[in-house]
Amino acid sequence: MNGAPRVTSSLFLAGLILLLVWFLAHYNFWRPIADPKLPRILMYHSVEPGEATGMNIPPERFEQQLLQLQRHLYTPVTLSELGFDPTVNNPLVITFDDGFRNNYTHAYPLLKKYGFKATIFLSPQIGGIERLTPENIREMSDSGLIEFGGHTMNHINLTTVDDATARREIEESIETVASLTASPCRTFAYPFGRYLPKHREMLRDAGIEMAVTVKKRIRPLGNLLEIPRLSVHGAANRLQFHLILTRGRYRV
Ligand SMILES: [Zn+2]
Repeated sequence: MNGAPRVTSSLFLAGLILLLVWFLAHYNFWRPIADPKLPRILMYHSVEPGEATGMNIPPERFEQQLLQLQRHLYTPVTLSELGFDPTVNNPLVITFDDGFRNNYTHAYPLLKKYGFKATIFLSPQIGGIERLTPENIREMSDSGLIEFGGHTMNHINLTTVDDATARREIEESIETVASLTASPCRTFAYPFGRYLPKHREMLRDAGIEMAVTVKKRIRPLGNLLEIPRLSVHGAANRLQFHLILTRGRYRV
């Protein structure tokens, strides 16, 4: 007689549990809070109006995140500056990979507006995207707000090419960045986060002091040629961005 209500209530309970599982998977409050003094190194790619994806963040959302970062009292520094002075209080490094032209047209005005520094890893011959021009690069570099680092010439996966190609791709990108900015290139990002120990040595030979990966961790700097970063999905909301900054992990 009371079978129907029982089915309804167990369905309701199952629904509640599913909702809870979904919530805990998407909002990782349960993860431990990282020490606020440890560096936060964020990874972005494209910043332009349109769809929010893993690669693109719309400018309004990027601006909202800069405001959120300001409230957290982080100290925005370039990657090299973090290497020079690891004792800086609550360091924050904003990075952009590949060298999208919209880093100049959409991100740079906002970075200037709020006084945030950033590091852009440039693949000078990357295909399929609208690239930064030499003038864009020189202007941003001269501003003192933006540092440029290498990212291979053609955005190649270093682990899939022979050593001579890997070395050439690394060295040429570093030389190109140095000549475009008229300053030394000290930093590098592994394309796709892919590398082998020998590639670390190639970077060292080419004068690179710091290199970043795509491993999501908040931790002390450690080995300067494999520094983890926190990728920011373009669709991350305020709460998820807060979780990225405090826990290092999130799901969108
Ligand atoms: Zn890349």
